[in-house]
Order: sequence, then C-alpha cells, then structure tokens
Amino acid sequence: MTDCEVLIVGAGITGATLALALADAGVAVTLLDREAVPPLPVPGQPLDVRVSAVHAAAVGLLERLGAWSLLPAGSHAPFGRIEVWDAGSAGRIGFDSTEIGQSWLGYIVENRALIAALHARLHELPAAHVMVPATVDDWQVRADRLTARLDDGRDVTARLLVGADGAASPLRLRAGIAAQTDDFGQCALVCHVATEHPHEDIARQRFLPTGPLAFLPLADGRSSIVWSTTPPEARRLAALPADDFALELAAAFEHRLGTVTAVSERAVIPLRGLQAARYVGPRLALIGDAAHVVHPMAGLGANLGIGDAAALAGVVIAALRSGRDPGLIQTLRPYERARRSQNLPVVQAIRGLYWLFGADAAPLRLLRGAGLLTVDRAGPVKRLLTAAACGQADGAFR
Ligand SMILES: Cc1cc2nc3c(=O)[nH]c(=O)nc-3n(C[C@H](O)[C@H](O)[C@H](O)COP(=O)(O)OP(=O)(O)OC[C@H]3O[C@@H](n4cnc5c(N)ncnc54)[C@H](O)[C@@H]3O)c2cc1C
Repeated sequence: MTDCEVLIVGAGITGATLALALADAGVAVTLLDREAVPPLPVPGQPLDVRVSAVHAAAVGLLERLGAWSLLPAGSHAPFGRIEVWDAGSAGRIGFDSTEIGQSWLGYIVENRALIAALHARLHELPAAHVMVPATVDDWQVRADRLTARLDDGRDVTARLLVGADGAASPLRLRAGIAAQTDDFGQCALVCHVATEHPHEDIARQRFLPTGPLAFLPLADGRSSIVWSTTPPEARRLAALPADDFALELAAAFEHRLGTVTAVSERAVIPLRGLQAARYVGPRLALIGDAAHVVHPMAGLGANLGIGDAAALAGVVIAALRSGRDPGLIQTLRPYERARRSQNLPVVQAIRGLYWLFGADAAPLRLLRGAGLLTVDRAGPVKRLLTAAACGQADGAFR
C-alpha cells in the first residue's frame, strides 16, 4: 500500500509538470503511467516527429522547477517571430518578440525530451514517487481519502486523484464526466524537413483552404512540419515518395524557404477537439488533454495543460499549507473556475479561426484578409496579441 497526498494518472507533459510542481513544494505525490518513461535523448539521436511550441511563460515555469536546464542540446530551439498568412487573400500578420522587449517568444521542443527532462528532475525529489508501467483499474472515495486499485493489485491511497491521462482519459470516462467532442474532419501530417533557405528562428504558418500548414524551426536547422488537411489528403501525402512529397510541400508553402531537400519519416495524427463538462469531481481533478483538446493550429494544447498543472498545484499547496483538505470539491472549485475561464475563450477563438480560414466565400476571404492586415498595423492590439503568444495572458503563470 502506497500512501500520498496526490495520485496522478498519466505522466505526459501535463501530469509530469503537476507532479514536479507538487513534489518541489514537498507534497507527497505518486505519478503513474501505463507506458515506460522515455530516456533523455543522447546527442546525435534523430529528433522524434512530435514537437510542441512551448510559450515563454511555460518555459519560465519549467525553468523555475529545474526541468528546463536538463533538456539535452539539440532538443529545443527558440523562436523570435511568428508569421501567418492566408492562401485565399492578401491577409498576413507577424508577431515579433522585440515588439514587447523580449528576445524570444517561446521554444520548439521535442515532446519526448521534455517528458524525459521532467522525469529526470522528479527523480531528484524525495516527495515524488513514480510507478511505471501501471494503471488505475478502479477507486473508492471515502470521507477523507480515496483508495485506488492498480492493475497489478496494489493499492494507493491519496486525498486527490488527478486524471492527466490524455484525450481518451479512462479516468474521465470512469468518473462519468461527459465531454463534448468536435470532429475537425482533419488529420495532421507531421515530419521534419531540411530546406534550401534557413528558417531564421521564425515559426511560419500558411492557411490553405484545406487547413493550416506550419514550418516550425528546429535546433538542427531543419523545420518541423504540421500539415493539417483532410484525412484522405493526409494519407495520400504520407504515401508519396519522399521526393514527390518534398515538391508538393514546398509548393504548398509558396517556396518561402526555397526547396525542401530532405524528409524524415512521416506520421498522420487524427485531429479532434474536446471539452469536458466538468474539470473536478469528488476527490478528482482533470488536467491537460483529459479536460480539453484544441486544434494544433494555435500551438496551445500543451501550454494550456502546463497552465492547468500550475493552477492545480497552486490550489493544492495553498490548501495543505492552511490545513484544508485538497480533495474537497470546495477546494477544487477555484481551480475549475480559473481554468475554464482561461481555456474556453481560447477553444472558442480557435474554433472561430478554423471556420473563418476554412471559408471559401469571397466576402469572408476579403474580411479575413482585411482583418489580418488591420490587426498587423494596429500597434497596441498587436502588442497585446504578442504578449498573449508568450503566455502572458494566462493567469496560471503570474
Ligand atoms: C500535431 C500536433 C501538434 C501539436 N503542437 C502543439 C504545440 O505546438 N504546442 C502546444 O502547446 N501543444 C501542441 N499540441 C498539443 C499537445 O501535444 C497536447 O496538448 C499535449 O501533449 C497533451 O499532454 P497531456 O500530458 O495532457 O496528454 P498526453 O500527451 O496524451 O499524455 C497522457 C499520458 O497518459 C498516459 N495514459 C493514458 N491512459 C492511461 C491509463 N489508463 N493509465 C495510465 N496512464 C495512462 C499515456 O501513456 C500518456 O503518457 C499538438 C498536438 C498535435 C496532435
């Protein structure tokens, strides 16, 4: 029998960040995952195709928690500018870190390396206990604790159970928390490519009628591709010979970085949105993709999840310091309120953009072209949006 304050199921980016924030404050936490933890990549190891744009505010939190400095060189690269333009109009917009007096807006980081770095830091903290591979089969809530039965028959008791177990969240399902899903009717094709011209540490995205195509700058000079399109088109692109794919990719990107000269393995990921009806229940909280999934076009899913982890850690630590029970619904409500009011507008804004950029009607194309150009020239609005791209609008990081 293991006894702790908080039991977290799911040791991906958000679950491991929460475990670290709690253990760093001396809170006894157990973190488990059904998969083995990836080892820290060794120098020269090929980059995995799953990467995330992590904004400056989230990087700051991960630095304070001592995980960021453990990232191996080559696994992460800063970007100082974001450029977005529309295939269907003259609309374009750019966000530059210098507009808000910063030298970078965020980093493109390999997901696997970030998870490994979080775990490397966790291993240094006596309050953290990691169990992998393991999963929770069931749990019973009692007056002051819960007991979770693991798949190997062991029991873990805790005051709070956290579902950080991803979009399909078995915990959310078992707790009977409903979720509204959005089928975007899209898949993302992801890979890394080398290009004729340097990326200059700029994250670029072109909106095509079928979905956005992003080139994100990697540390080794290549670009990470996230090409969201219809499922048959994504499958067709993934099956093309590498040279033919390179030609189509460069053309779809208007040759902004010249020709595409080398292509890594390609993966196709189906895209679906999700909003859980509640983020909390009796001795239960959901964070990250278990609570909400957004379209990758804004590069925000992991950032919102890291924000959830920071906010929930704050609520739990404050409760324990003042002698309150961290698993009570009245303790957890402020977490739910804060994160829903942060996440819902983001979800709605991304849905709106998805619809607007997918629309082919001439008046809508004119509207978005003019809208983008107007915002691009409006200094104060641009500065606000640039600060938001850095994560400064997310209260969890203040
Ligand atoms: C193509 C693409 C590009 C993206 N780009 C960005 C970006 O640029 N920036 C950004 O911020 N976000 C981005 N995202 C979103 C981001 O990847 C996710 O929001 C983030 O990885 C979610 O992390 P998580 O830890 O909440 O969930 P997950 O990564 O899904 O982790 C869940 C963990 O729970 C474990 N688990 C599941 N079930 C169980 C169980 N029953 N028992 C035990 N363990 C279990 C899994 O093994 C896994 O380790 C992108 C997403 C996609 C698809």
